[in-house]
Amino acid sequence: MILTRYLHDSLDMLGIAACEYDARLEAVSWNSTFLQFFPEDDGAIYTGEPYADNLVRFYRGRLSPEEMPEIERYIAEGVARHENQTQPFEFIHNGRRLRASSLRAPSGARVRLWQRLDIEAHAKAEAVPELVLPVFEALRFIPDGATILDGADRIIAANDAFRQLYGLPGDQPVVGCTLDEIIAGCWRGASPAGAWRAAIRNGLRYDGAPFEIELPGQRWLRVIARHSVGGIGFFTHADITMAKRQHIELIEAQAALRRANAELAKLADTDGLTGLANRRAFMEFLAAEARNGRPLSLLAIDVDHFKAINDRFGHLIGDACLKLIGLTIAEQAGGPGRLVARIGGEEFGVVLGGTAPEDAHRMALAIRAALARAPWRSLHPHLDAATISVGLCSSEGPIDGDALYACADEALYAAKRNGRDRIESRPLPVTRRTA
Ligand code: GH3
Ligand code: MG
Ligand code: MG
Repeated sequence: MILTRYLHDSLDMLGIAACEYDARLEAVSWNSTFLQFFPEDDGAIYTGEPYADNLVRFYRGRLSPEEMPEIERYIAEGVARHENQTQPFEFIHNGRRLRASSLRAPSGARVRLWQRLDIEAHAKAEAVPELVLPVFEALRFIPDGATILDGADRIIAANDAFRQLYGLPGDQPVVGCTLDEIIAGCWRGASPAGAWRAAIRNGLRYDGAPFEIELPGQRWLRVIARHSVGGIGFFTHADITMAKRQHIELIEAQAALRRANAELAKLADTDGLTGLANRRAFMEFLAAEARNGRPLSLLAIDVDHFKAINDRFGHLIGDACLKLIGLTIAEQAGGPGRLVARIGGEEFGVVLGGTAPEDAHRMALAIRAALARAPWRSLHPHLDAATISVGLCSSEGPIDGDALYACADEALYAAKRNGRDRIESRPLPVTRRTA
């Protein structure tokens, strides 16, 4: 915890609300003023609550019925605001005007603080009418687009940079328009679902919190709105197209990298010929199943006289045989908690998690029967069924996976010695039953 109880209490004395979130955006601690400013959280927020859940409450109390269908979007933007905030912003909640600040600790944790603003002091600053005209004049010295809006959100002044950003000809009137109308004009009615409307609505509520607006031609603007208590709005509009494109490219590159990594990880675990798990994945799966302690059976399978198949039909047909055998075993033995792997040249392994010896034996019989029915002649007209020898070993309770494998392997060699095309079982020696 970054904030101790004492610090929370001290902030309470100053009338400052505080809430701490960890790097996973889960609530850690909060003070009494927080519950005063956000009464909807009283008795509802809990340690470990995801920030998005908190926002559900927040927005349910704020959004009008017509805005409710878009609540997911509001929540996503709220989470983004939480994650990216560097500057304080202001908004009105339960009749209080609040300034919210949030800083990120290197660990990714965040502390949010809310200060109630003194409404009367603002109201006094407002009452100086002579200042209005010079402010209009000053707009053209501002390098970003700048607009001043009246209490009904209609533009009462705009600078040339604003016209340029939104591609408005010099003779097109902007005074009297809403930002919504200007942007709708840019899109000529073909906007992506009027996404900017929610952005503007949201932006208007969070004084000083930047919001992004997409324009046609893959252009983006960042708008920051500030409102006086009297309702006058001062907006700045900056072109963030380049930064936004780089950001999108970065996100796409990261996604491609993640896909490539997942593909590589899969390749590292896969046998190239049969597409089954390889020996590495087999040993890993076996070790995990052996540790977890539930009943576990293992089949070690070796194709009989496979060298003769190669010698007679050639390696390519031999390869096709191995694929068919792998496929047949997987069809019989695949499923949750199980893994079929090619663990060597013409050797296969089947890990049967949660399977008792009798069921594993039935499974081995089913595999042999399925191999007898497999379409060998589709590989070569003279190819008869290949047979397998199977070694079976089972265990219960946490054991050493290698020991189970060694035991199944011994059973397999017994099957070979005893004439092949058969199943042999071996109990796991007592001395090897420790994990
Ligand atoms: P046994 O019944 O005693 O197991 O006889 P076997 O001939 O199957 O056993 P052996 O170990 O003598 O021979 C295994 C053969 O499997 C030899 C090798 O050429 C062949 N083999 C191993 N991997 C591959 C492969 O990927 N493709 C092909 N076509 N053959 C393979
Ligand atoms: Mg072999
Ligand atoms: Mg063999």
